[in-house]
Amino acid sequence: MLGFHDTRKWVYTQHIDGKYQRLRRWAFLALNVLLFATPWVRIAGSPALRFDLADRRLFAFGAMYTASDTLLLLLLLLFLAFSLFFFTALFGRLWCGYACPQTVFLDTFVRPIERWIEGEWTTRRRRDAGPLTFALAWRKAAKWTLFAAAAFLVSMGFMSFWAGGPELWTGRAGPVEYSLVAISSAVFFADFAWFKEQFCNYLCPYARFQSALTDDRTLLIGYDPRRGEPRGGKDAKEAGRCIECSKCVNVCPQGIDIRDGFQLECIGCAACVDACTGVMGKLGHETLVDYGSLASLAGRKASLLRPRTAVYAALLTILAVTAVALMHSRVPFEASVSRAPGSLFTMDGDGYVRNTYFLRLANNAARPDSLHFAVSVEGLAGADVTAPQVSLAPMQDQLLPLIVRIRAGASTPRTLPMRVRVAALTGQRVLTTTFETGGLDARD
Ligand code: SF4
Ligand code: SF4
Repeated sequence: MLGFHDTRKWVYTQHIDGKYQRLRRWAFLALNVLLFATPWVRIAGSPALRFDLADRRLFAFGAMYTASDTLLLLLLLLFLAFSLFFFTALFGRLWCGYACPQTVFLDTFVRPIERWIEGEWTTRRRRDAGPLTFALAWRKAAKWTLFAAAAFLVSMGFMSFWAGGPELWTGRAGPVEYSLVAISSAVFFADFAWFKEQFCNYLCPYARFQSALTDDRTLLIGYDPRRGEPRGGKDAKEAGRCIECSKCVNVCPQGIDIRDGFQLECIGCAACVDACTGVMGKLGHETLVDYGSLASLAGRKASLLRPRTAVYAALLTILAVTAVALMHSRVPFEASVSRAPGSLFTMDGDGYVRNTYFLRLANNAARPDSLHFAVSVEGLAGADVTAPQVSLAPMQDQLLPLIVRIRAGASTPRTLPMRVRVAALTGQRVLTTTFETGGLDARD
């Protein structure tokens, strides 16, 4: 025997169809399309979404964000965090059942492959409990080969958001990227072949802090004991009580019995709802397992609006308005000025004091046209400025010299404030720095 049944309690899930399972399959299809197609999409010549860690850039929907946009990224992260709190308080584990990658991959790849190769749940359970035969061995080998292929596919899908879809899939990414694909494929394979539903039960942090985010009015899937109990008995079918068919238990991918009340292991997949809807529907009764809340199951009124959701909604509104305002005033290029290393000032032969700077300009706009920059210096009367006039292609950056000279007199302070204005069609930035004259001692 391969010991599939004695090292842990394996869950053999009965396949089920129904309204919610069809809805989930559409959601999974959309999410898989998003995962595999997005890295190939380009907007105005740049990736629609790509995390370029090597150059510390984020391409998102036609724009490029760099370290200078940290505030915006922070707001985005806060928005995502509070959205999660808000969403969880309202809809509980809807994410787990319909959109979590673990659920999507298990239901898109793992369970269909398992059913295709090893048969229905009762056949799988019977074979795994029996001796190691050729029929069992080749089926396990074929299944694990397909799991490995699925793990590789999924890893390539995720890595494409870092390495770029065309680069990764055509062998043009670097050894680091392919090494990460190999490591991630091994992790996904272990998850698909062994860990499966245990990930939700033991590892997922979201599942762990769910109970702190929900209350008795949060959407969940529950069994109605007021209609379902007492179970069984001769008149259960006529009365619409639970007939103890166990179908809601057999279809549960988490291996739990929803009739025991809400459990943390429940991922809200609604398989038990579809199962009971089918069973009770045939008997002419309403399902005993359905979407609801602890309050509605206890016969109380459940409203969406409550202090917790109102606070989350207010915070989300504030964050969204701030982010939109920041985006509106965002200048899609970077400019910074620094003094040329090793020289504070130089005395020229014609009596001028010269300061040399380096100006770093970067065109972060994803639009296809080049951006023309005009540089001027403010705050120094009569300054003689040699400023760069330059055009940069999208995503291009350049280091340029900026030379400023002034005729300093005896009363000129040692340090003068100075502004460098960098103007382009898309906006302007004003940089502050200082001009060093060296003071009287240096000129005497
Ligand atoms: S109890 Fe129902 S909703 Fe929860 S995981 Fe099991 S089948 Fe899915
Ligand atoms: S599917 Fe419905 S009737 Fe069957 S055991 Fe579950 S709750 Fe009872």
